[in-house]
Amino acid sequence: MRIHAITTGRVHVKQAQIVGRGHGLMRQLGPILASQWADWAPVYTFAIEHPDGVIVVDTGANAGLKSLPRWHPYFQLSVEFDIEPEQEIGPQLARLGIAARDVKTVVLTHLHIDHDGGLAHFPHSRIVASGGEIARASGFRGALLGYLPNRWPRWFDPEPLAWQPSPFGPFRQSARLTDSGDIVAVPTPGHTPDHLSVVVRDGDRQVMLAGDASYLEATMLRGAVDGISPNEATASATLANIRRLCAANPTIYLPSHDPQSAERLERRRAVAASDFLSSADEGLASLPAMSAAAAR
Ligand SMILES: [Zn+2]
Repeated sequence: MRIHAITTGRVHVKQAQIVGRGHGLMRQLGPILASQWADWAPVYTFAIEHPDGVIVVDTGANAGLKSLPRWHPYFQLSVEFDIEPEQEIGPQLARLGIAARDVKTVVLTHLHIDHDGGLAHFPHSRIVASGGEIARASGFRGALLGYLPNRWPRWFDPEPLAWQPSPFGPFRQSARLTDSGDIVAVPTPGHTPDHLSVVVRDGDRQVMLAGDASYLEATMLRGAVDGISPNEATASATLANIRRLCAANPTIYLPSHDPQSAERLERRRAVAASDFLSSADEGLASLPAMSAAAAR
């Protein structure tokens, strides 16, 4: 199995979006009101070459995002994209020798504009996302919440993911994305209420394609909730579940905007026990390793 990290341009957001400031409404207004910008960050998507067919996790940004609706305060004040058409996922997959027709399944961690931006390249693929996310992103309400449903391809009709009551490590539900179950989706609510992540079993480690469950590995380890999540407690609980997963089995943790994600994938660098020392869960790293069976 080969996993490719593909950078579809860069995104620029406020520091208060990456790590929320304060609580409640103030935390959620931070990305709009704050003045301090973070460094430009990559917009990763991932392509998994699996014997069942290629699976793409998130489709990244598109060049059209350099122009955003001016009526929306978040788009007006809080985000900028830098991407050219040849940096979109379609042309980049082609350069890797993967035709869009070879992509059997596209999984969307959520439908924010830098995750669904490359959908137009996949008219022939099965596209799945969580049902709650599809509903939330649709229509006028979706537009108010900062989605761009009016830019979806006309044929876009994603399949709601069928969650199974089979636990995967600390996650109570999961959904198999391959027949063998070596690639599964797990619910990681927080950044959006129905956000999901994808876990790939790859030899002696697992790779977690985290979407925006956190913007950085460091913020996951610290349990720092972003400035976007509508419910701080839900987001916090998800970050704790991810730390449990990483503590139980060697896990390469790859958020969509962590500048280190591609390098960690390349070096197969899992979250290490020492990384937990400064984290929110003292002693978590010394938990006995969960057996592979328990983690399924
Ligand atoms: Zn997002």
